[in-house]
Amino acid sequence: MTVNTETYYEKLGISKEVLAFGDAIEKKLTERFAAIDKNAECNQLKVIAAMQDNKVNEGCFSGSTGYGYNDLGRETLESVYASAFHTESALVRPQITCGTHALAVALAGNLRPGDELLSPVGKPYDTLEEVIGIRPSNGSLAEYGITYKQVELLEDGTFDYPAIRAAIHEKTKMVTIQRSKGYLTRPTFSVEQIGELIAFVKEVKPDCICMVDNCYGEFVECIEPADVGADLMVGSLIKNPGGGLAPMGGYIAGKEKLVENAAYRLSSPGLGKEVGATMSVNRSFFQGFFLAPTVVSGALKGAIFAASIYEQLGFKVVPNSTESRHDIIQAVELGTPEGVIAFCKGIQAASPVDAYVTPEPWAMPGYDSDVIMAAGAFIQGSSIELSADGPIKPPYAVYFQGGLTWYHAKLGILKSLQSMLDEKLVTLPVGGKNE
Ligand SMILES: *Cc1c(COP(=O)(O)O)cnc(C)c1O
Repeated sequence: MTVNTETYYEKLGISKEVLAFGDAIEKKLTERFAAIDKNAECNQLKVIAAMQDNKVNEGCFSGSTGYGYNDLGRETLESVYASAFHTESALVRPQITCGTHALAVALAGNLRPGDELLSPVGKPYDTLEEVIGIRPSNGSLAEYGITYKQVELLEDGTFDYPAIRAAIHEKTKMVTIQRSKGYLTRPTFSVEQIGELIAFVKEVKPDCICMVDNCYGEFVECIEPADVGADLMVGSLIKNPGGGLAPMGGYIAGKEKLVENAAYRLSSPGLGKEVGATMSVNRSFFQGFFLAPTVVSGALKGAIFAASIYEQLGFKVVPNSTESRHDIIQAVELGTPEGVIAFCKGIQAASPVDAYVTPEPWAMPGYDSDVIMAAGAFIQGSSIELSADGPIKPPYAVYFQGGLTWYHAKLGILKSLQSMLDEKLVTLPVGGKNE
């Protein structure tokens, strides 16, 4: 028997027509893929230089127990993050449970009763609503007397500078800027745009702390928010910078004093960065950070491939197939509940883990409609791994992200298309070709 790429696609349930359609689309993306590879090259060198500068060595890979005093691996890793992201300091910990927690720690560590927090970019990520107290919540910043203001973006997704100027006053201690659109339909901001916003805020109030929620943005460009003036940037290790290997964790990088304030909140006043056992995670944190630039490049290729495929088939995709990318999330408006379900089933069926289970919509806590989620991941909830989710409500969009390798992302997207075709929810252009 012949064993080649085509026979494996067939074995994995991809028809010749779907493969031909996908391959034709892929051919047109050569230039964009080359640009993504170039960006990954820049970031790979950045990470290697940071590791060399901080003398990463075998001793860094064993971890500590108990209090975790004098943990060489942890301390070196934090210096590596700080070097790579061009910040004075970083807190990179398995005790930071997720992105929301990292953001909550950075906020609560740096705000005091009577201070105000401003979001100049509209509503923050859903889970931040309860952290801030936009939706009343047990333990929110609001309960500690920290107030919050929000300035909406203009219609075209740009910053409303006059309104931002008017919203900043003597109590405005901190500004939070979310880089990724998350699950909204606004555009994701480029690092350069974030830099302009920070410069404006600093001009109005020089001592205002500018924090960037960097989730899904790391390594998508060769500069990061700290390169354009962010005082703090925050993210999750089960997204981009963990490279798929970090089994948990989050990071807070930025000005020394601000990171220290966050550390006193994460552990305890008086203890700060000095404690926090790492058990056996140091090696995967280092190795994941080392792989992250290429992992992010695979995820980016997948996002652009998905946008190109579904745009060609007549669906609205955000971002569209040609615009520049500033995060790894791709939204596809499928228009029907059946479409969302079929798409997610395809992603699930392409997974290396749990491919045999069928995702179903369910009433998840915190959501106002049923939600379907597809993820066959090595790390629970990891969204740098190939994953998709869609609320079962108009406009019936699915949000798709990740893929530890481009080849897996490609298979996942072809499988989503195959699943939609099998359910007769879409038809391929005549002849299976898109030309
Ligand atoms: C994922 C995400 C978060 C929250 O991270 P979790 O790890 O899910 O808690 C916050 N902000 C943005 C923009 C995100 O994408």
